[in-house]
Amino acid sequence: MTATSAPGQGAEYAATASEAYQAALRVIESVEPRIADATRKELADQRDSLKLIASENYASPAVLLTMGTWFSDKYAEGTIGHRFYAACQNVDTVEALAAEHARELFGAQYAYAQPHSGIDANLVAYWAILATKVEAPGLTELGAKHVNDLSEADWESLRAKMGNQRLLGMSLDTGGHLTHGFRPNISGKMFHQRQYGTDPTTGFLDYDAVAASAREFKPLVLVAGYSAYPRRVNFAKMREIADEVGAVLMVDMAHFAGLVAGKVFTGDEDPVPHAHVVTTTTHKSLRGPRGGLVLATEEFAPAVDKGCPMVLGGPLSHVMAAKAVALAEARQPEFRTYAQAVADNAQALADGFVKRDAGLVTGGTDNHLVLLDVTSFGLTGRQAESALLDAGIVTNRNAIPADPNGAWYTSGIRFGSPALTTRGFGADEFDRVADLVVEVLENTQPAAGPNGPSKAKYTIADGVAARVHAAAAELLDANPLYPGLTL
Ligand SMILES: *Cc1c(COP(=O)(O)O)cnc(C)c1O
Repeated sequence: MTATSAPGQGAEYAATASEAYQAALRVIESVEPRIADATRKELADQRDSLKLIASENYASPAVLLTMGTWFSDKYAEGTIGHRFYAACQNVDTVEALAAEHARELFGAQYAYAQPHSGIDANLVAYWAILATKVEAPGLTELGAKHVNDLSEADWESLRAKMGNQRLLGMSLDTGGHLTHGFRPNISGKMFHQRQYGTDPTTGFLDYDAVAASAREFKPLVLVAGYSAYPRRVNFAKMREIADEVGAVLMVDMAHFAGLVAGKVFTGDEDPVPHAHVVTTTTHKSLRGPRGGLVLATEEFAPAVDKGCPMVLGGPLSHVMAAKAVALAEARQPEFRTYAQAVADNAQALADGFVKRDAGLVTGGTDNHLVLLDVTSFGLTGRQAESALLDAGIVTNRNAIPADPNGAWYTSGIRFGSPALTTRGFGADEFDRVADLVVEVLENTQPAAGPNGPSKAKYTIADGVAARVHAAAAELLDANPLYPGLTL
């Protein structure tokens, strides 16, 4: 077992996990062999790619195996001990354990393990905040109209019925998430929204500007958290701002929950003691199954607990079981070693870029992600993403603040360290990754399309993609994914 592996992730479990998967694939094969093939191929592809997508990770075989059971067959709408369906005693056990592990891991007063994803967790949280804080008679009238048929005037009327509630969140182009009040998202429709950004010169969050905006706008909800901001946030300061204007502080820690769980973010950087409501995914840096969680103070707990069926469909009991296993893993001391390595490795990657003169948003990182400004290579994010993929490096393009190429082509590439850290990569390997990325981008040129300059087309100098692919394969071979697992 490497220093960064979790219980259930190490080579000593490989023989047992191999038997389990071989048997499972034989069963699947007997019904639909093409699915068995695709499943085998997906493992091979994941093993062979240098995965730097900041929102992805590799859950342990224990977590993955937990999802493949008959808990999937059970309906269990409602809450622990109060279900709309009969015979939910084992689901109760599962949900109670997932919630208990979440409460104890994060030090939260209350945890809700049902959300199917991060976005669902945010919707549960928004509805719970409205239900707790706002009297809204007559809300159901608009329910007669299909939501896609609501006009701007209908939305206006819906917002009026909810008392014209306001939400202040981080803008998408400075690293916020679309559910933080982005205008076309439901969060930007059900609330009057305003967005805060980062300092245009430094790229850092400007707390004075957030406070000024909050004083002027007086939101019901102040949302903190991000998907593409490479720095830590001071949640004690965000709570001060919320308190000053009487707002509820909601923190969406979907991206960095693993750093909170692993005690890399403590004190003012730990959202749980400061926020009224915290939401998260479980599959990003937390390294669990795909899903979401809501943590809340006692005040919001009763409304959050009504998430299903108010906002969510029936709970995915098999996934809640896997959440419980993943959270149990995250409570082991090894997870702290892992989380620290995630932060150290992101730092090594950023240092590797800086020493090779590549431009970074904010000049570096102190969390798990790095945002490379590829205009320093004369490329768009779209061109850089495709060229890197040709060389076996999997990333995603991402807008940078005030992006000159817009949200589709973009000017940035987002890198994250959680997945490769799970494979056992250390600082030297991440420095080598920076080297390979820079080699590809330095040897990539924008190319013209049929109608002149293109933001999508590019050419890579001969031999570079193959050379980098081979170098990446060496790194991957030295740090195998699910070592010893054979299908
Ligand atoms: C990824 C992410 C989400 C959405 O998670 P899903 O599970 O894909 O719904 C929500 N908020 C933030 C900040 C995220 O990064």
